This record gives sequence, structure tokens and C-alpha cells, in this order.
Amino acid sequence: MSEPLNLKDYATASLRERFAKAGIKPFRADQVAQWLYVRGVEDPLEMTDLDKALREKLSLEWKTSALSLSDLQRSVDGTLKGALMAEDGAMIEAVIIPEGDRRTLCISSQVGCALACSFCATGEMGFTRNLSTAEIVDQFLHMQREMPEGEEISNIVFMGMGEPLLNLPNVIEAVRIFLDQKTFAIASKRITVSTSGVLSKIPVLLEAVPVNLALSLHATTDKVRDVLVPLNKKFPLAAVMLELKNNPMITKRRPVFFEYTLLEGVNDSPEDARRLVGLLRKLPAKLNVIPMNPHPGSTYRKPAEDVIGRFMKVLAKGNFPITLRKSRGSDIDAACGQLAARNRVDALINLQ
Ligand code: SAH
Ligand code: SF4
Repeated sequence: MSEPLNLKDYATASLRERFAKAGIKPFRADQVAQWLYVRGVEDPLEMTDLDKALREKLSLEWKTSALSLSDLQRSVDGTLKGALMAEDGAMIEAVIIPEGDRRTLCISSQVGCALACSFCATGEMGFTRNLSTAEIVDQFLHMQREMPEGEEISNIVFMGMGEPLLNLPNVIEAVRIFLDQKTFAIASKRITVSTSGVLSKIPVLLEAVPVNLALSLHATTDKVRDVLVPLNKKFPLAAVMLELKNNPMITKRRPVFFEYTLLEGVNDSPEDARRLVGLLRKLPAKLNVIPMNPHPGSTYRKPAEDVIGRFMKVLAKGNFPITLRKSRGSDIDAACGQLAARNRVDALINLQ
């Protein structure tokens, strides 16, 4: 018998099509989505408004679970980090950061990452595999269950492990599930997909789903960016910036969220800041500056406070909103020694 399909791999529209092909009435897909995502029922045998034959068919031929929660840590500042295990034993992490009335979920799109950015802990792991749509959606479901009573995830950021644009079909389908008005109903302006600059896939993503795009810039010259983000050799700075400038989905209402990890002596000079202002002036932009979180095995360091201050002062001359990120949830990451997750947390707060 072939491996059972996972019901969570399909947005409702796709599941309707799948069901039709299998001789199941398409509207059953809507009922299944309600059970899975609104009522939190995973076992098809418990989906009582489906007839018995269908319940048994789904239970035999389909599966619903993809991940199990293997560890959960709560920071003193309220940040919640989950370690989740896939069926093949692969481990990924998801984080929830509360801030004001926002509860931002940071999710992973791959196990590891192939792009090897020189300052990133995930990059050091190398690439294992893409996550399925069900594995992306399950991160939300598991983490939501751990939230305090009455609190709900309000924002989603694809800034966990991996490069989402290199797992685009599964990421797009997961976004469609999150956007579904009848289930998760997360507003499109509250979903952000972050990329290190996979230029060829940017239009594909933005044409498929109306999400915010975050671009991990980190440098203002090809010389420096080639070292920090090796993908820059394939998709250089000017080409990426031109695509963003010309993409019709990027507007004042939906600007690009640039991320700039500040690394001591590498990209933190006033000259860097001036070039950054020059680059971002040309398109609708917001900027998130993230002082580097050092991790074992990395020689990069966070600049001194006065250097950061000087850098931010030059940036203030730009015509775009800027945020400087402070570390969150560092106590739990330090405790478990998994800095890959801490990097993500620092990068995403206040991004939206
Ligand atoms: N692959 C995607 C999304 C995941 S990484 C991307 O690169 O955009 C998300 C962010 O993590 C990166 O933009 C970077 O800003 C941040 N990051 C990685 N390593 C970091 C570190 N050591 N310190 C601070 N931020 C880091
Ligand atoms: Fe991959 Fe993003 Fe880390 Fe680069 S920064 S190695 S693209 S996860």
C-alpha cells in the first residue's frame, strides 16, 4: 500500500479537488478543515458530521499528524520555544514572541539550510530536507495549544530554520491554509516570508499569495554580501534591488521589510549606513537592524553600543521606518544551547 496522504498537506480548495478525484463529495473538504483547524480534532473517526463510511475511509487512507512536540521552554519575558519532531526524527524549532497585543509565531520551512550564510547557526547545520505543508501547519497547531488561555497567535513569520523560497510550493500551500477565512483566518498583512534573496522565486511567491516580503540584506556592497550571504554570487545586490523596485506587488501599503544583521567591523560603519540609506531610498521599505547574536563556532560579534548608536543616527536620515531589535528569550536559548532559535527570535520581533 502506498504511503497515506496527509490531510494537512492541502488547503481546502486543493483538498476539494483531491476528494473529487477519490469519489468523495468536495464539500467534505470544508468539514474536514473545520475539524482539523477550528475544533482541533485530528482523528477522522471523531469527525461526527461525516458519514461512517467516509470516516473509516479517511482514517484508513489518510493521516493527519506530522509533528510531535518534544520540548517546550518558556522565557521569563514570555517567549515560548518549541522543539518539534517529525516522523523521520528530524527536529525543528518554532517560537512565539508576545509583544503588546501581538503574538508572533516564527516557523521553520526546512530542516537546516543549504545557503550557508556565514553568521547564521542554521547555515552551519547544512541542509537535510524541505518541510511538508503539514509539517509547517503543525508548528502553528502545536504552539497555539501551548499558549495561555485566551491568547491566540496573531502574526506569522517564516523566519525559523531554512530558506522558504527554496521550498516554495509547500510554503505557498501552508500560507493558503493560514489565510483561509473559515479556519485560521490570519490576515495577509500579518504574514511575512523572509528570504536571503532567491530572486527568481520572489515574483512567484508574491503572485501566488499576498504576504509581506522580508529581505535579508546584511550588506550594501557585493564584496561584503558575497561573504555573508553566498547566494549573492548568484543573485547580486543590484539585481535583487531592481526586482524589488519593479515588482508590482511591492507598494507603499506593502513595503519590503529589510533585515540587516549588524556585525562588528564588517558592516557597521557610518559609510555602510549611508549606502544603506541610498539603497532603501529607491523603493517602499522598512528596516529592521539586528545586532549579531554570537554563537559557538562563529567569529562574528555584535558591535559596541556606541557603534550601533552611530550607525542608527546615520540611518535616521533615511525616509523609511527603522527598528533596532533587542534580544528576547535569550534565557531559554542559553539554557538549551540552541542558538539557532535565538537568532530567529531577535530577527523577527517588531518586523510587522
Ligand atoms: N532564510 C531566510 C529566513 C530565515 S533566517 C532568510 O535568511 O531570510 C532569518 C533571519 O535570521 C536572517 O535575516 C538574519 O537576520 C537572522 N539571523 C541569522 N543568524 C543570525 C545571527 N547570528 N544574529 C542575528 N540574526 C541572525
Ligand atoms: Fe539559510 Fe537564512 Fe540562515 Fe542564510 S540566514 S543560512 S538563508 S536560514
